[in-house]
Amino acid sequence: MSTIAVAGGGIGGLASALALAARGHDVVVCERSPEFTELGAGIQLAPNGMHALDRLGLAEAVGRIAVPVGELRFMDGVTGEHVVAMPLDRRYRDRFRNAYVVVHRGELYRLLLDACRSHARIELRASHAVVGYTHEADAVRVSLADGASLGADALIGADGLHSAVRAQLVGDGAPRNAGITVYRSIVPMERVPSELRHTSVTWWAGPGRHFVHYPIAGGRYLNLAPSAENAPAETFSGVSVPASEVLGEFGALCESARRLLELGADWKAWVLVDREPVDGWTDGRVALLGDAAHPMLHYAAQGACMALEDAVVLGDLLDCPPGWFAARLGRYNAVRRERTARVHRLARDSIALWHAADAAAEARNKALSAMSSSDLYDFVAWLHGTREFAGPPSVTPAVPDPAENSVYTLGGRLDPTETPSRTPPRSPRHVAAGSPASARSAGTYTLGGWLEPAEDPQPATPPRSRRNPAAGSPAPPRNAGTKESPKPL
Ligand SMILES: Cc1cc2nc3c(=O)[nH]c(=O)nc-3n(C[C@H](O)[C@H](O)[C@H](O)COP(=O)(O)OP(=O)(O)OC[C@H]3O[C@@H](n4cnc5c(N)ncnc54)[C@H](O)[C@@H]3O)c2cc1C
Repeated sequence: MSTIAVAGGGIGGLASALALAARGHDVVVCERSPEFTELGAGIQLAPNGMHALDRLGLAEAVGRIAVPVGELRFMDGVTGEHVVAMPLDRRYRDRFRNAYVVVHRGELYRLLLDACRSHARIELRASHAVVGYTHEADAVRVSLADGASLGADALIGADGLHSAVRAQLVGDGAPRNAGITVYRSIVPMERVPSELRHTSVTWWAGPGRHFVHYPIAGGRYLNLAPSAENAPAETFSGVSVPASEVLGEFGALCESARRLLELGADWKAWVLVDREPVDGWTDGRVALLGDAAHPMLHYAAQGACMALEDAVVLGDLLDCPPGWFAARLGRYNAVRRERTARVHRLARDSIALWHAADAAAEARNKALSAMSSSDLYDFVAWLHGTREFAGPPSVTPAVPDPAENSVYTLGGRLDPTETPSRTPPRSPRHVAAGSPASARSAGTYTLGGWLEPAEDPQPATPPRSRRNPAAGSPAPPRNAGTKESPKPL
């Protein structure tokens, strides 16, 4: 029987513990904090994240805590204009075979934690900070901050943005300060005026800033998350800030957006950081997962979904004897890097789209407002629609699979010809991910992908003037005749 150590008890660490234990491995999760807990507010789960939770046996439980989202609604935050909305109705669910939901982060974490606690093969160790690892013959030794160590057949570094395992494995220093501060607050729904309540995830886009909100905790609260490009000199995380600072940053937004922001209290602020994608996340029997492997800005609302996908693929691939672990981890790295790097780029590219000003904002609104629901579905299909989390078939493995003639499937594969491992190469080369450069330069950026010039749509109605913004409630959705309208809460 094999033992796998997991550094970090966040969403990614606990999900991988479940996926690995389901394959018959004993799993020891080492969490630095004195208790297993997760702070924070809401989290969006697109169908791909829900598929992953399905695979971890948690879909039903998540369904009980999730708030289905009526649409993804994009507003011009200055003029108050309703630009476009992607309905998340039956057509969306039929196409992507799952719902788009929002959950309270603490509630999602609690489900993962309870599932780990009740699994006989999973041991959770709090106050166990991992500081590094050394390779041993057919094993890895995990070093802890208190000087103790732990022997394991493999180590999964799921220790987040400031990962100690990554520091040793990749060695790319501190994360990059993105120059953006995100503020977060949760408001009881009874305090939200009825005309401002929606089951949507709503973006208010403004120059150099935007504001996202959505209901969480069964609709009992509204999660507010405005962010501003205000060039913080230093990074910080979860720091309390006065409401006046938040309102000052978003004073240029229209009345409806400001009315919602004025409801916020106990604001906390984070400086956004990410890292450049790298193509090497493994070192023999050691691999990174989740934010430790591919930390991205949260603007694609996919970091946790990617960690859940990672966990599912990892579990499928490590359905094998320990002698194959190194090769299988190399395979995991190879099949996950392109997809995660593409999401990383989408998150960064969102800044230009959401924070556009003046003529660029008008051009954005014109292009987006002309998109049909089908156009929008097509653009997110690669991200929301897949159940194959192992990337495009063109991905070149970092190392050959031990079973050269067998085919990788999500259900795992055991081929009797498999032979034990070889160590995959370590390379922090940056990945050129996402759409090909030629497609990007020729196309137009949209909410979820690239619009080819041939499609070049015209707007259904001209946008309202930015010089004479109509404050107050936004206009009704343009496509009201073809989608379910968001229901009031
Ligand atoms: C504002 C914001 C909004 C977001 N919204 C969404 C969203 O809507 N949808 C979505 O999918 N994603 C979202 N994300 C991204 C998502 O939160 C992260 O990608 C996800 O939580 C990463 O999980 P993780 O387990 O990899 O890392 P983490 O959650 O960072 O967990 C790492 C764990 O490791 C522990 N640890 C750290 N160092 C050590 C060590 N040396 N030894 C042992 N333990 C250690 C930490 O204490 C922590 O418990 C958002 C992120 C932000 C900042």
